[in-house]
Amino acid sequence: NSPSNKWERVMLKISGEALAGDTGFGLDKTVVQRVAREVAVAALAGVQVAIVVGGGNFFRGRDKEGDGLDRASADYMGMLATVMNCISLQAALENIGVPSRVLTAIEIKEVAEPYIRRRAIRHLERGRVVIFGAGTGNPFFTTDTAAALRAAEINAQALLKATKVDGVFNCDPSKYKNAQYMRHVSYQQVLDHDLGVMDATAITLCRENSIPVGVFSMFKDGQITNALRGDPVGSLVDD
Ligand code: UDP
Repeated sequence: NSPSNKWERVMLKISGEALAGDTGFGLDKTVVQRVAREVAVAALAGVQVAIVVGGGNFFRGRDKEGDGLDRASADYMGMLATVMNCISLQAALENIGVPSRVLTAIEIKEVAEPYIRRRAIRHLERGRVVIFGAGTGNPFFTTDTAAALRAAEINAQALLKATKVDGVFNCDPSKYKNAQYMRHVSYQQVLDHDLGVMDATAITLCRENSIPVGVFSMFKDGQITNALRGDPVGSLVDD
């Protein structure tokens, strides 16, 4: 690990939606390649990078329940959707020579390894980027919670959430022009004011395990790399 990196091991959360680019559905190759390049720079600088990716660009359980599809079934479909994003990210990393492994919470053993905590840690120690698929493996959870859970399990020193906005705001900046940017907030403030950083389950897990959460925009060049290396980008959520 190079001394200019703040952390040895970090968790990056990317929403599935972000990978769709402007089209809003599926995968935008240029976005996927850029994410891979930025992750690669940090990984080559010695940061152990774990990634959880969402699935909203293909399927989101809570939007699809009803019409004969119960919530649990819809959520399982959502978890399967995340795996497609994992494979796409892995391919992009591989294309630029960065070793990576996909580990899924639901076994799909022809395409990925099953999630085994110790194995995930070993991959990271060997310099492989580890991409966690299928969320927590349980319906009624989110990929933010999966990111917080896996971060705690692998002893990640920070959870870095790449979003569409610059960080934490007191209200939704896409809806309110006067939304105020908050550079630093506590876990408690996020919970009390429902600050839309991550859901309460995810935030609570981070708080209980003292994992700081960085929230930053993934649409500025170099920000993912900077965040992974520990440069202060966006907002910080901690005690
Ligand atoms: N999901 C789930 N359990 C998990 C993680 C995800 O059931 O532990 C399902 C849920 O239906 C969710 C979908 O997978 O809507 C995709 O994840 P998410 O909405 O968090 O993705 P993002 O919005 O980050 O793309």
